[in-house]
Amino acid sequence: MMPRSVLSRCARLTQQVPLESARSTRHGVHRGMSSVTIPPPACMLRPLEAPFRYLFGPGPSNVPPRILAAGGRPIIGHMHSEMFGIMNDIKKGIQYAFQTSNNMTLVMSGSAHTAMECAVFNIVEPGESVLVAINGIWGERVAEIAERMGAKVHTLVKTPGGHFTNAEIEQALAKHKPVLFFLTHGESSSGLVHPVDGVGDICHKYNCLLLVDSVASLGAAPLLMDQQNIDILYTGSQKALNAPPGTAPISFSERACHKMFNRKTKPVSYLLDMTHLSNYWGNDGKPDRIYHHTGPVSGFFALRESLAILAETGLENSWKHHTEVAEYLWKGLEDLGLKLFIKDKDLRLPSVTTVAIPEGYNWKELLAYIMKHHQIEFTGGLGPTVGMVLRIGFMGYNCNKANAAMALAALEDALKQCRKSKA
Ligand code: PMP
Repeated sequence: MMPRSVLSRCARLTQQVPLESARSTRHGVHRGMSSVTIPPPACMLRPLEAPFRYLFGPGPSNVPPRILAAGGRPIIGHMHSEMFGIMNDIKKGIQYAFQTSNNMTLVMSGSAHTAMECAVFNIVEPGESVLVAINGIWGERVAEIAERMGAKVHTLVKTPGGHFTNAEIEQALAKHKPVLFFLTHGESSSGLVHPVDGVGDICHKYNCLLLVDSVASLGAAPLLMDQQNIDILYTGSQKALNAPPGTAPISFSERACHKMFNRKTKPVSYLLDMTHLSNYWGNDGKPDRIYHHTGPVSGFFALRESLAILAETGLENSWKHHTEVAEYLWKGLEDLGLKLFIKDKDLRLPSVTTVAIPEGYNWKELLAYIMKHHQIEFTGGLGPTVGMVLRIGFMGYNCNKANAAMALAALEDALKQCRKSKA
């Protein structure tokens, strides 16, 4: 309970400012006359409405009450010592989740795209060569990001659902001599989990850094940053971590730090410049943290709680649990006569399952039916997989057999009710 004195102070703070005082003559406006020509919009005078939905797609996933409560706590200043303490805790939580002892571990204030851009902008200088593995949308995105900042982009391409052998990667590294190689661990547009073993070693043999996207896979499929020699790893808050969208953990190896802190040119983005961000996160060894930008305080509270839940659960338990629920879902989907898009079970992403769109059905109609009648979100494909797959995801809090059974029942119902539609 808050003390009475605090409550009454809060009440005073939230009291409406009388309209009259807003019509200040100091601003050249006469008392009694309104200076605004645009009235308050009617929608803003209605309460916020956001329906409950079962978010069983590729993310965001539902946020558990404990994390929502953490995000809903009264905020403190982004430069308060307590906030720095919370950021230090978050850093430790990420080091555990990524399995890294990298000092340069922090959180981007923004969605996972911010982390993608931060990695590319800080590591690569204009004119340098970058190699991007494209087997779905995320490679396409990183190639575009690198191209926009003036890198020489080379691609290694497979159709969605395909993966690259280490020999293919080595051949391309030898040919293009990139400073950075990008690989998506959990390809959420195709449902593939890409093997990472050995890739870091090959990259280092060619003096190249390995950048890995684990947005859709972190906490759901095994990934060990240090043991697998990954130089830059990032993820998002809104998938298996179950925090609201808007923060993105990232970590850089010593090798990556050496490259990014010895560059000749400044990174194109001020906001994403790691010289500043490393100070903001207390990673640069300097005694004081200097204001750079106002971090999303509530987002950091929520992220800390989500990392605490992962630490309590244990990474290995989390991986095992996601696999068990995914296997239950895959069997249920096959029992419905559906075909899984990724044939090899070992290459299926446990967090996001892709189902080939059954013949004779309009995928948009199936999704709309399920949303309308079951309040469940599944999604269609993304980028190159649009029109090819439906995507069903169970991550973190959502990941249990009861939810998977509910999803299967909804899909079965939709397959019956939408039967007559044609793709
Ligand atoms: N990478 C992967 C694998 C993703 O699944 C996503 C989000 N769907 C992103 C990157 C981008 O994340 P965000 O939308 O948070 O920027």
